[in-house]
Order: sequence, then structure tokens, then C-alpha cells
Amino acid sequence: MQNLPFRQPGRFYRGNLHTHSTDSDGALSPAEVISAYRRNGYDFLAVTDHFRERFGFPITDTREFRDDEFTTILGAELHPPALENGEDWHILAVGLPLDFPPQGPDEDGPAISARARKAGAYVAIAHPHWYSATMNDARSISAAHGVEIFNQTCHMANDRGYGWYMADLLLSEGRRLTAIATDDAHSKDERPDMFGAWVMVKSEKLDPDSLLAALKAGSFYSSQGPMIHDIAISDDRSSVTVETSPVVSVQVCGRAQRTRDVHGRAITSCSLDLDRVQNDHFRVTVIDESGKRAWSNPIWLD
Ligand SMILES: [Zn+2]
Ligand SMILES: [Zn+2]
Repeated sequence: MQNLPFRQPGRFYRGNLHTHSTDSDGALSPAEVISAYRRNGYDFLAVTDHFRERFGFPITDTREFRDDEFTTILGAELHPPALENGEDWHILAVGLPLDFPPQGPDEDGPAISARARKAGAYVAIAHPHWYSATMNDARSISAAHGVEIFNQTCHMANDRGYGWYMADLLLSEGRRLTAIATDDAHSKDERPDMFGAWVMVKSEKLDPDSLLAALKAGSFYSSQGPMIHDIAISDDRSSVTVETSPVVSVQVCGRAQRTRDVHGRAITSCSLDLDRVQNDHFRVTVIDESGKRAWSNPIWLD
């Protein structure tokens, strides 16, 4: 269970992996958006401006905002042509070098995502539901480490913020992907999209390289509010114990209809049978009384 972060050394750091600034179409400057996240209890931020020609293919330089208590990861949102429906791709690349070359004239989604991964980035298929990406589209991004399974600004824009349906189908096809929740903050007054969803990354150090390594290793979970303190699988793999901040529902979600669920008041610890999951993968969702969720990464039992 190498992708379970809870028993690994270090501590959890809270961060948002998908953010825009005035270097593309965000309302706040890099300094302003970083200050806002910092004031609101975040440990790190990735400013990921739109990597488009009309913005000058920005890799926003946020290195000057790093110190002992807060850090940044460089990145961008890539927009090569094109989905099956003709829309430009939205591919999140967290951990790019400042000199990542602009998109080439013949570069498509699979090509630029592979180049981003090779350059060191954690690559995610961004908000697939928001713009009707298909399974064929998703399958083509073989360089992806993960899928954005919740995107706050998409959730507010068209109620298509979730990406779990596509992620679950890709997992069922054997892809070993992780799952990230993000704000995709543009920080505009008319759509307050900051501080809605984040990742909690377990790392020994608060620096970009350590955080990036933890992201690639799946050493994190995602949240809109609840905190997951532990997920422990019994030695015989027949059950899983979940410890969390108080929630009303805990769910195990495996392949197809293979699920288990527990409901109650202020649950902070519970065990669920894994009999239906067998030697396959599953993930854990917890839901608090206001409907806020936290999600584990997929866990493989083999
Ligand atoms: Zn996007
Ligand atoms: Zn975005």
C-alpha cells in the first residue's frame, strides 16, 4: 500500500495546485493571490497560468514568495489542440521549469503532456466534465499522473466540477492514477472560487521538490473540508479502518458497484468490509454534515 500517506514520515501540508493570476486571466497578481492563500492557512500554492500564445506562454515565476513557512511550485495549464469535440485541451502541469518551451506548432495533447512529464511535472487531466472530455480523450493522455476529481471554479460555473466518473472508469481500465481536488481559482469578485478544495500532501519537508515527489508517489489526499487522519487496511485485507474529523458518511468505492458505506452522527472512526473489493482497487470518501467531502487516492490491494 505504498500510496497511503498516513503512516509515512513528515506532516501534511495544505496546498492548491491550480491557480490563475494576472499573468493570464486571473484577477489577482501573483503576489496578491499568494498572499490570499497564505493568509487562509495554506502552506503552498502552484500558480498555473494559461500556457497560451495570447498570454505569452507564461510560466509564472513565484520563487520570490518562498520562505521557511510557505512555498510555491511552478506550473501551467496547457492548452494544445484538441478534444474530440474540437475544444482545446486543459492539462494541468505542476512542477515545470521556468524555461519550459512554448507549445510547438504540431504539438497535441499527448505530445505536450509527455513533454511536461519529462520536464518533471505532475500532469493531471483537468476538469474533464466541465468541457465534455471523452474517454478516448482521456485515454490518449498516457503521461497523466492524475485526474482532477473536483474543481471549485467549474463546480460554480456549470455544476460540472467533479471528475470522479472519468477517473473511476480509467482506474477500471487499469490506469494507476491519482486524484486531485483544486480551486482553479481566477479570484474574480463575481465568482468567489478560492479556498473551496485542496490537497493535503504528506512530506518530510516544505519545499517544491519534496512536495512534487510526494504528489507523484500519491502521498496525499484531497478535501473540501474534512480531514482524513488515517486509512489502515487489516493484515488479511478484509477490512479498512478510517479515522477522520467528524463526518456523517464514510464510503468505500471500488470497481463498478463494489461499494460499502457507513452513516451516522459525528463519525470519527469506523471500519468497513473490503469483501466486495477483493484484490482490486478502491478509494475512500468521507462526507461531513454540511456535505463537504474528502477523498483518498485510489488504493490498490495487489
Ligand atoms: Zn481549465
Ligand atoms: Zn485553470
